[in-house]
Amino acid sequence: MGRSSGDADVIVVGGGAIGLASAWEAARRGRSVLVLERFRVGHERGSSAGLERQWRVQYSEECWSRLALDTLPLWQGLESAAGRRLVRLTGSLWFGRVGVATSEGELQAAASVLERLGVRYDWVSAAEIEARFGFARLPADHEGFHQPDGGVIDVRGTLDALHRLGAEAGVRVHENTRVRAVEPDGDGVTVRTEDGVHRAGAVIVNAGAFTNELLGPLGCPVDLRVFRMSSAYFDRRTADVDLPTWYAFLEPGEGDGDGADGADGANGSLYGFGHNPWTGSDAVRAAPDAELRVVEPDPAVPGPPDAGHLAATAAWVGEHLPGLVPRCVRRSTCLASLPADPGRQFYLGSLAGQVQHGERVVVQSAGWAFKFVPVFGRICADLALDGHSGFHVPASALR
Ligand SMILES: Cc1cc2nc3c(=O)[nH]c(=O)nc-3n(C[C@H](O)[C@H](O)[C@H](O)COP(=O)(O)OP(=O)(O)OC[C@H]3O[C@@H](n4cnc5c(N)ncnc54)[C@H](O)[C@@H]3O)c2cc1C
Repeated sequence: MGRSSGDADVIVVGGGAIGLASAWEAARRGRSVLVLERFRVGHERGSSAGLERQWRVQYSEECWSRLALDTLPLWQGLESAAGRRLVRLTGSLWFGRVGVATSEGELQAAASVLERLGVRYDWVSAAEIEARFGFARLPADHEGFHQPDGGVIDVRGTLDALHRLGAEAGVRVHENTRVRAVEPDGDGVTVRTEDGVHRAGAVIVNAGAFTNELLGPLGCPVDLRVFRMSSAYFDRRTADVDLPTWYAFLEPGEGDGDGADGADGANGSLYGFGHNPWTGSDAVRAAPDAELRVVEPDPAVPGPPDAGHLAATAAWVGEHLPGLVPRCVRRSTCLASLPADPGRQFYLGSLAGQVQHGERVVVQSAGWAFKFVPVFGRICADLALDGHSGFHVPASALR
């Protein structure tokens, strides 16, 4: 088959943060790379939307804490290549009720992993959390830990950096190009879009919440749950009010206002951030970790933020964060996807063994993965180009 401008060594489906990281990694190794993005890079309908994400080392599973420790140097490498700061280490405060488990993990289990890995943290009581971090009127049985190497990641800065570095390394990005099918064969992979056919030696599917649109027709969907998440921003009462990044493990009904971990997936927990200089605003974000199951037939159609959950978040902020004005000044929403099995965190692997010539198709999807953007990009490129990666964690296998 002759080579056309749509051919490449590697085609990446999806121009979100992880797709751009995969593309940059493959291009840095001298490969020709084409990114096909259904919308525009930086759009707000996927998961890499909004302004900030939590950076944390703690996980209830040791493998993910180890990977986070390995990822920080990759963030630093990306920062130095981009000439800008992307991760601010403001500290990570996890507190609430010991024993409450969410998709983030569980307090005691995560502290045990930190202990085993020799990562520093302070166990703090409700009174200490109030005295040190600006919270108020916490129930006396709230406790948790502060991990000083946690912090916050600049989402737009990361997308801009990867987009620019990719372009400098030769990555071509076709926007407004929806991939309809990915078909591996003995010589490569055919990628069908709405307006053409491309060929590549390997394909990396970084399609986030939309992954099964491509894996379903191949007969090997991943077991994914897709959610719409809502966030609110609150003004600070004074410019010196600041917070670490925080996550409050609460019983259903404490923070989400609906009283049950029911069909909508609300779990009661809340999370938030301090003031981030890149947001262009004085306000800070707080949000329910309420994983609302998407009801739209097409998840690409934006839905409204959930008014009930945001009102409950404002009420909790009013009670427990006296430095903030408990009125939402801005709201946002975007898609998240998680493995249906709550014991799993991510999917990352090739389709080898599931589809003929599946080793040519590498997939990453699901999970709270922004913190792993540089390493997941590295692993995707490694698997697509070399068939293996020193960073690959078996617990993320697709099956
Ligand atoms: C509210 C919220 C809070 C979060 N908080 C954290 C956090 O604190 N810490 C953390 O580590 N992670 C967090 N995450 C998760 C993190 O944001 C995601 O894991 C990450 O952004 C996923 O990036 P991605 O590139 O895989 O997906 P996306 O950004 O969704 O990119 C996928 C891209 O693929 C494109 N695409 C899909 N199908 C096709 C197709 N057929 N053809 C062409 N293009 C296609 C889409 O348009 C999209 O641009 C959060 C997520 C949400 C929603």
